[in-house]
Amino acid sequence: MELIKVNLYDEVEMKKPHPCVHKSHRFQVIMLGADLKLQCLGCGNIVMISRIKFNQKFKKILNSHETIIFDK
Ligand SMILES: [Zn+2]
Repeated sequence: MELIKVNLYDEVEMKKPHPCVHKSHRFQVIMLGADLKLQCLGCGNIVMISRIKFNQKFKKILNSHETIIFDK
């Protein structure tokens, strides 16, 4: 299975909404690794999701931040 390439701080749209009052499909990637941490852009809550589940639920990238260089 091909992995979807996302970058840190990318805004992504998922197939299923976050089960919060905002029902937001938009999340921001705040941690990348074997698991990902996504922050719901509706309520601000953070969800942890495995790479495999992310691949299944991912719809598209809304805003890519790949050109931004972050200082450590
Ligand atoms: Zn939410």
